[in-house]
Amino acid sequence: LRLKLCSIQKVINSVITLLEYRLKEHNVELVFQPDTDLPGVMVDSDRLKEALVNLVTNACEAMEGGGRIVITESREVVPDVGDMAVISIVDNGPGIPQPILKDITNPFFTTKEEGSGLGLSIVERIVREHGGLFLIASGRSEGAEFIIKLPVKEIVH
Ligand code: ADP
Ligand code: MG
Repeated sequence: LRLKLCSIQKVINSVITLLEYRLKEHNVELVFQPDTDLPGVMVDSDRLKEALVNLVTNACEAMEGGGRIVITESREVVPDVGDMAVISIVDNGPGIPQPILKDITNPFFTTKEEGSGLGLSIVERIVREHGGLFLIASGRSEGAEFIIKLPVKEIVH
């Protein structure tokens, strides 16, 4: 892991630029709600980009005929863990059926004809390597939410 102090906002923006064509192709509108007060976070930006590319790609693939992705950046104090930068990725696709929710991060688990089933296991590993938390939520109605929480270490001058 090559950790450097990075702007999460910049990382997300470069992922959006990288995936511009894929979003258009899938007829997906992406809305990014940045948190301008968020401090820099020690991350391996290439690895974090890899994780976000996987999540946005999955959302595109889940929404047949198009849809909407909202990426939100925020800050949260998690009890016993401390200050964390939070990245949430929400789509308005079909969501994840409850019975498979616990399996989807397993390597090689896929519901796709030609899926590798590796995307979410890679995301989980990248987040774990950063000392972060990876959460998945899916309600009874539409949509899935993927949340990445990364520790914010204050830089003391
Ligand atoms: P793959 O994309 O190759 O199937 P992943 O590990 O990326 O592998 O995802 C595993 C499975 O999780 C997918 O096959 C799909 O069933 C489910 N999944 C992932 N993201 C979403 C999403 N945004 N909406 C609905 N289901 C999803
Ligand atoms: Mg995938």
